This record gives sequence, structure tokens and C-alpha cells, in this order.
Amino acid sequence: MAEKRDYYEILGLSREADESEIKKAYRKKARKLHPDVNKDDPNAEEKFKELSEAYEILSDPNKRARYDQYGHSGINDNDFNFDDFARGGFGGFEDMSDIFDMFFGGGMGGRRRGPQRGSDLQYRLTIDFEKAVFGGSEEISIPRTETCDTCHGSGAKPGSKAKTCPQCNGNGQVRTSQQTPFGHFTQTRVCDKCGGTGKVIDNPCSNCHGQGKVRKRRKITVNIPAGVSNGNKLRMSGEGEAGDHGARNGDLYIVIQVKEHKIFKRKQDNIYCEVPINFVQAILGDEIEVPTLEGKVKFTIPEGTQPGTTFRLKNKGIAHLNSYGRGDEYIKVKVVIPKTLSEKQKKILMEFAEESGEEINPEHKSWLEKVRDVLGV
Ligand SMILES: [Zn+2]
Ligand SMILES: [Zn+2]
Repeated sequence: MAEKRDYYEILGLSREADESEIKKAYRKKARKLHPDVNKDDPNAEEKFKELSEAYEILSDPNKRARYDQYGHSGINDNDFNFDDFARGGFGGFEDMSDIFDMFFGGGMGGRRRGPQRGSDLQYRLTIDFEKAVFGGSEEISIPRTETCDTCHGSGAKPGSKAKTCPQCNGNGQVRTSQQTPFGHFTQTRVCDKCGGTGKVIDNPCSNCHGQGKVRKRRKITVNIPAGVSNGNKLRMSGEGEAGDHGARNGDLYIVIQVKEHKIFKRKQDNIYCEVPINFVQAILGDEIEVPTLEGKVKFTIPEGTQPGTTFRLKNKGIAHLNSYGRGDEYIKVKVVIPKTLSEKQKKILMEFAEESGEEINPEHKSWLEKVRDVLGV
């Protein structure tokens, strides 16, 4: 953890500042640092907490005196009352409109410590090509911790309560001092009575053994929007691990993996496939059937289609995720040359060759010219 900054420094004040200066400095900085006006800054909440903490100590003459004398080690968790703060006890604001100006559009971001938010979870979900194209839903089963139904997360047997740890006064840490020949040493360690939570439970809930949470396997339905592709992440808010004692749950992230299709290849929202035709169809043209995502459609191959020609079927691709419209389908013609021919077929082709002469088509001719240029003959 980073070292704690000096409270006066945070508020930009000298040690001689009086009460009204502290109040004024806090109000000014709170407007500037509030997370709701600094949505782009990932550290906004941290900065605001730091500010709130500094104000809470320096605005209270007793706490301030302790801080002046002992620094941060003179302050402990009990000196913070952020729950009160969150309920609307915004010390330092005489005018309610100030508060609404400042906190409009968002909750109070100033909780400094206390219950931890639950962890996020990630699940890799493999879906069929068609489901990625058209969307749909999938049921998954994930192991996660959930808030205990019996004690509603308190960890205490119904009817009883967790109480502040008497050994550390709720700090979760205890300080020990030792006088040695080399001097006076102070050490901080995690309180062994409460394990650092600051609370002790005399009658633990029998369902969760005082943890406030239980591990469960939970079935969840994931809605898959049309157009998702490999690597897309879907966020399911609050479906992660349970938070501590009423704190917010983590989120569940679904990472999409799409299976390959037998005939279609995908590139962004366009799809590609090859369609085999015979050489007579390529030469004379024909109406053929081509596959699309919605089934077969009729398509006319024009006369004189060259091998490898690609045709576009507009709007037959995949729906754009998060916007309107869809991609296109590209079909590439693959001309299949027969490997065996009957005597009659051979005869007809020989006749065809005779009729055509040596140079079969204009493209062939220009190619021969190019060869002559290169070889200089
Ligand atoms: Zn319980
Ligand atoms: Zn303790």
C-alpha cells in the first residue's frame, strides 16, 4: 500500500488553518474531485476518499489534536464514520443545494473502508456459429460465493449480532511496543482475535459458519446478442462473487468463443464460402443454388465466369453488434474440371477445340504477349 499522505497537504492547508479555512478548502476540493465529475479518472474514487478522510479528521478538534501530535498513527478506524457520512451527514455544508450540486447523478462515493465488494468472475463460453449470428441464450452453471440466506451476510446466528472486536477495537490491527537495548520498537500486526475483520461473532450462523457467505453452484442464463464474435466480453452486473456484509457483488464476464462453421468463414461481419460449379456452367452461365445463413437461395452465374471469381450477396452477412445493418456474403466460384471423360465427351471437346482455333480467348492472347515481352522473343 502507498504511504498515506499528510492530511493538511491533501487539503492544501497550513498546519495553522482554522476551522472555516478547513471547511472552505474541503468544499472547494470536493467539487473538483468528486467521482461523478471525474468519470474518466480511474483514481477518482480513491482521491475523493482521501479528501473525505482528511476532512473528517481535521474538522474534529479532538481528532485533529491527536493527528497533530502523533500523525497517522494517532488515528484509527473508529475515527471514521463514513456510514453517517453516506446517510447525508455531510459535515461542512450549510446549504443543502451545495450537496445536491455536488452529488447529483450518483451515490456517495466516499466510503473509505468497511465491507469489500465481491470479486469479478470470468467464464469462457463456447457457442455455435449460428448462435453468434442470430443471438439467443445459453444456460451456464458456475460455482460462486453467495450471501448466506440464513444470516443475510452478517455471519451471526439469527437473533444475535456481530460485535466490535474488544482486542483491536474494530481496527483489525494491534500495535505492540517493545523496549530493547537498541531503542523503542513499535509493530503493527493483524489482530488474531478477529483475523483482521474488526468484528467478533459469539454465535456464528450455522449455515455459513460465520462467513456470511456460502459457496454454491448457480445456473445462469446468458443472453447472447446477435453479431457477437470471438473474444467479445459480455458483462453481467452483480452476478460475480458476493460482497462482504452487504457490499456490492462482483460482476460476471462472459468471454465468447465461437465454433467454426462447416462452410462459412467469418471476417468481421462478412462471411465467405466457396461454391463449386462445372466448367460448362462457368462457360455458359447457369442458375445455381448457393448457401446463405438463412438457407439456400437461387443465384445466376453469368456466362463466361472465370475460375475464382467472387460474387457479393449484399446484406447476407452477420448483423452488426450494437448498430444497425449487417455484413455481406461473398461466394467464390470454384470451377471443377472433370478428371475422367467418356469417349463421346472427348470427341465433342476435340470438335470444340478445332472450332475455337489455337487461341481460346482474348485474355489468353494478352497473356502470351506479356510472356513475349518478358522473354524478349
Ligand atoms: Zn450465515
Ligand atoms: Zn480484532
